[in-house]
Amino acid sequence: MATMKGYGVIEPTVSWGWMEKEIPEPGPFEALCSPVAVLPCTSDVHNAHRRQAWPNRILGHEGVGRVEKVGSMVTDIKVGDIVAIPAVTPIWRGKEIAEGLHEHAGGFLGGRYLSSQLDGTFGEYFIIPDADMNLAVVPDGVSIKAAGLVGDMITTGFSGVEGANIQFGDTVVVIGIGPVGLMSVAGTALRGAGRLIGVGHRKLTKELAKQYGATDVVDYTEGDIVEQIMELTNHQKVDKVIIAGGTEDTVNDAYRMVKCGGVISNIAGYDFSKSFNIAVADAGTLVNHVTLTGRLCAGGRYRLENLMALIKTGRLDPTLLITQELHGFEKIEEGFNMMEEPKDESVIKPIVIM
Ligand code: NDP
Ligand code: ZN
Repeated sequence: MATMKGYGVIEPTVSWGWMEKEIPEPGPFEALCSPVAVLPCTSDVHNAHRRQAWPNRILGHEGVGRVEKVGSMVTDIKVGDIVAIPAVTPIWRGKEIAEGLHEHAGGFLGGRYLSSQLDGTFGEYFIIPDADMNLAVVPDGVSIKAAGLVGDMITTGFSGVEGANIQFGDTVVVIGIGPVGLMSVAGTALRGAGRLIGVGHRKLTKELAKQYGATDVVDYTEGDIVEQIMELTNHQKVDKVIIAGGTEDTVNDAYRMVKCGGVISNIAGYDFSKSFNIAVADAGTLVNHVTLTGRLCAGGRYRLENLMALIKTGRLDPTLLITQELHGFEKIEEGFNMMEEPKDESVIKPIVIM
């Protein structure tokens, strides 16, 4: 029995580290990949710390892979292809696919296989379901670093933008400007927003928010963010709010700053054990025509090909997010530890290149 190494959750909330597993065999529609580059994510750390994680599961859901083996029904993806990997890799058939809800194909979070139903990209090998529909070959003109960011950071940030339905000239607040929120800022700017206010704290993320198109930044450690934003807008409530960080109370802040008929689009993750605290008055007693929507990151080949077209044509440079470059498979552990809270001032997104 051939075995491989991987870094993952041993017992949720209790222990995580290196583990040894059997190298999996791809099924008819699947591909077996090896990592070319992987990017540790805040979600990997949350997975380790939260009860809802899968035990004995290799972590990792971001990166670029090399196709090592394909199943008998795979026709487009070939052995040797260098591919961008989406964090969401559904099986593209079934009721939710017909409904246009591939993220939850098969049920809540059903499209998210890596490091839940299947071992993730922090292994020496990993399986991608429905390979022809999920893997996107990295085109010439797109670097490995940029390709590594499409499958979660860009697609998630942009899912928040799509949820908010940004229109030309909208005043938009992006709460949380880590790598995901920074991509929401970039996507909101691409969609033609007017005033665009980022909310964060660390100096580097605030600088990058400006580079990606924020007109203003607000620091959540310097007082109530709603008051700070109302000061900036001359007490006009905003059109759209994208939540890409914060706490369970941030949803209430979003209600306090959004106008009647506006949209709150959440992409932040929360611990299942917590509750949201929404004040009836702040939420306009829920008759204020505000839409509250939430998105899991969109996945699949078509999505990633389109996002890589934005990079190839120079409309988006996601690589400013990469603050640390580590080399060698064993460095995955160091990259994972960098994402533990509180993050160092210098860390936005590390990449581990094999
Ligand atoms: P980070 O932890 O890197 O960024 C979080 C951001 O929120 C930082 O800018 C941080 O500021 C800011 N923040 C922290 N506390 C507050 C607060 N009280 N009020 C306002 N802002 C605050 O996370 P990522 O960018 O990697 O991910 C963002 C979120 O998206 C996470 O919740 C993650 O779980 C989720 N996620 C969701 C996915 C989906 O499919 N929907 C996929 C991937 C991630 P600072 O660091 O300067 O203190
Ligand atoms: Zn991620």
